[in-house]
Amino acid sequence: MPTTTQRRELRELADSVRGTVLGPGDQGYDEARRVWNGAVDRRPAAIVRCTGTADVVAAVSFARREGLLTAVRGGGHNVAGNAVCDDGLVVDLSPMRGVRVDPGKRTARAQGGTTWGEFDRETQLFSLATTGGIVSTTGIAGLTLGGGIGWLGRSYGSTCDNLVSADVVTADGQPVRASRDENPDLFWGLRGGGGNFGVVTSFEYRLHEVGPVVLAGAVFHPLARARDALVFFREFTDTAPEQLTLVASFPAAPAAPFLPPEVHGTRVLALGVCHCGTLADAETAVAPLRAFGSPLADVVGPMPYTAAQTMFDERFPHGRNYYWKSSYLRELTDEAIDVLVDHVARTPSAETTSYVWHLGGAMGRSAEDTAFGHRDVRFDFAALAGWLDPARAEEHVGWAREFWSAMQPHASSGVYVNNLGVEGDERARAAYRPEVYDRLARLKREYDPDNFFRLNQNIRPMATS
Ligand SMILES: Cc1cc2nc3c(=O)[nH]c(=O)nc-3n(C[C@H](O)[C@H](O)[C@H](O)COP(=O)(O)OP(=O)(O)OC[C@H]3O[C@@H](n4cnc5c(N)ncnc54)[C@H](O)[C@@H]3O)c2cc1C
Repeated sequence: MPTTTQRRELRELADSVRGTVLGPGDQGYDEARRVWNGAVDRRPAAIVRCTGTADVVAAVSFARREGLLTAVRGGGHNVAGNAVCDDGLVVDLSPMRGVRVDPGKRTARAQGGTTWGEFDRETQLFSLATTGGIVSTTGIAGLTLGGGIGWLGRSYGSTCDNLVSADVVTADGQPVRASRDENPDLFWGLRGGGGNFGVVTSFEYRLHEVGPVVLAGAVFHPLARARDALVFFREFTDTAPEQLTLVASFPAAPAAPFLPPEVHGTRVLALGVCHCGTLADAETAVAPLRAFGSPLADVVGPMPYTAAQTMFDERFPHGRNYYWKSSYLRELTDEAIDVLVDHVARTPSAETTSYVWHLGGAMGRSAEDTAFGHRDVRFDFAALAGWLDPARAEEHVGWAREFWSAMQPHASSGVYVNNLGVEGDERARAAYRPEVYDRLARLKREYDPDNFFRLNQNIRPMATS
């Protein structure tokens, strides 16, 4: 519980914002301190539920004055749990979810607490979209600031490639705008450098014609035939058109009517797919995938783009215990496939999955100069441990780490910054090429020399020489 002095200070903070300030014991505090990863259980001294930029300015200024450790919360989805901290202050943007679409200009502006489900709902009113996360409850903020990979990325680039401008509250509590023309150095760093440079209160994105209906779904194969199917996946993705993206994942088969009852609960390979072009083009492009082998089920079909964007929601519910370990893969060799299948067969729980995500296309050759790194890789790999019983954490974390280590001979040295857990400075560095990391460290020195924003994949300010 806060002391009396802290309570008085919190009252001062509460008087300076339009939103609410929650401390331990307040109604709503326990709900507000929870994040997507149920393994994260932190108790901040206060949570400021911001309603606008002025609240963010007040919260940042207060935290600076009081010397408080400060976390920034967008969607609260990050596996590392950096959106919340013990004892310090949480600048919580989750009440800020406004989205405004300009169909004429094909842009949308969304506030920093918006989720992809909310964003897609508004943009799809006009059959427009930008590259976004493939689980609808993920926040636009953390995802965009780390780069952003999604079904549309091979056609339209990463999410950060589609960022037109951002409104930012910097570490000294100043509201600034970043775009190609205003603070272009900051704009560069925001596109891949994570939440290191300030609190982004709104994001403006470029939109593209997508939907309202796309061809999407998954083809399921038994694990016993996964090797052949993954060789097919490798070859098929090598020549796939850019409108087509695949994700090979390894869930426990759901008890769904489209799957034979005898496979329910067993480990399967799901080749998830989305084609964002016309249905005629999509049917032609996807045909080889549907013709391959003897799948357990083929549930690929036309569906609203908003439904394609929620296909994976059920696999990643809020509040479970999660631990991720991830690397990019340059190639998916036969040896890597053997390691994958071997480890997937030993997946320790029904709540756990793993994936190989097909990258490239426009994401690989961005015309934009951004901090988002490692664009030359072909695949993203992740072991995604999930479990219900907190007492069994070691077993699940151990499986993910062992899987990841076994994949390392086949991995690139890089990692997608948004997939990192609490893994230390070296792993945060691995998200960038060395020259990009140095440029980020120089930018950090300029915008946040005291490392005020440090609950993130932290870029330490470069020392003044
Ligand atoms: C189930 C699931 C599915 C995912 N799917 C995808 C996917 O399809 N594509 C993809 O690219 N990634 C995906 N990710 C990874 C995702 O990009 C990251 O977890 C991302 O950090 C989530 O953003 P958030 O705003 O929800 O996170 P938060 O936990 O709120 O924040 C993450 C980090 O960003 C900082 N931050 C948050 N908001 C702001 C802000 N407004 N200004 C400044 N800093 C801020 C936080 O301080 C923290 O350091 C997925 C994650 C999960 C858990």
